[in-house]
Amino acid sequence: MPASQTSPPSPTTQLISVVLPCYNEEAVLGRTHDRIARALRPVEGVRYEVIYVDDGSADATWNLIRTFTRESPMVRAVRFSRNFGHQAACLGGLKEARGDAVVLLDADLQDPPEIIPEMVARWRQGWRVVSARRTARHGESVFKNLSAFAFYRILDRLSDHPVAFDTGDFRLLDREVVDLLTGLTDRELFLRGAVSWAGFPETAIEYQREPRAAGASKYTLPKMLALSRSAFLTGGSALPLRIPLGTGTAALAAAFVMALTRRGRPKALPLALFGAQSLAVGVVGEYLHAVLRQGQGRPSYVISERIRSTIPGAVLASVEEVA
Ligand code: UDP
Ligand code: MG
Repeated sequence: MPASQTSPPSPTTQLISVVLPCYNEEAVLGRTHDRIARALRPVEGVRYEVIYVDDGSADATWNLIRTFTRESPMVRAVRFSRNFGHQAACLGGLKEARGDAVVLLDADLQDPPEIIPEMVARWRQGWRVVSARRTARHGESVFKNLSAFAFYRILDRLSDHPVAFDTGDFRLLDREVVDLLTGLTDRELFLRGAVSWAGFPETAIEYQREPRAAGASKYTLPKMLALSRSAFLTGGSALPLRIPLGTGTAALAAAFVMALTRRGRPKALPLALFGAQSLAVGVVGEYLHAVLRQGQGRPSYVISERIRSTIPGAVLASVEEVA
């Protein structure tokens, strides 16, 4: 980290936290730290802190992180007691971060730290979420590319709110968004889905995703499946639970029409029974969805701006009205 970061900040200086979730990243972490140090030169009005989250690594990752913290006061770190997964590590980092804005960054250099200053510039223009959209993914398997392509599109169809395509967790979040996310009580939070749900003004910077700089992917197939599961739950769509309502209604309507014809009559009864059963499952699904919503405990709305009256005496008048 550059020494100039240690000088006391002026009151107008804004702090940007950069959070890196790390799981067994000894092969790449030294390189990552050097690239971050070069990319995050403090500029007028902006300084940085770097927060490493060791997600229960079994290799030398924590030792490396400890060295970084000794070399610079701008580096902080937390270590999880075991591996809790990438999303939990990101959330842990968001909770540790003290910045006016926070950037989430993968530790394997697939997310180039060099575009962070551009993200910060957009944030200072007033954007509260600045995401990084991948225009290409180099060095990844056909399976990974195809599954990622399909994932975002199905998720968008199955979510109650629009989802940003081809965007991972590499993004800058304003303090207000960070506070909202860390205050959510979802048991399994899918961060990027929750950011879309919050709906703050968002802009994107395009970049080409490079191959991992060293080491192997830590997102194994079971971890990818677990991520998809929490993505669809976070999305909160009632659509899968409503399928039996649709099939049940269609079957009952068809059974009714068949019952009117002599040839169809014998088959109408079994079809009507199937329709009634399907409808019953659909009704249970409706209750299940209501329970899911209640369990998530999300706020019913998010305020993005508020205008208070600047007319003298307005506050007093409204207090009197209440009294
Ligand atoms: N990661 C983590 N915990 C995990 C899996 C991954 O903290 O259980 C971190 C990992 O060290 C990396 C980031 O999450 O910084 C993304 O993981 P990876 O690069 O292996 O995923 P991929 O890019 O292959 O999807
Ligand atoms: Mg990666």
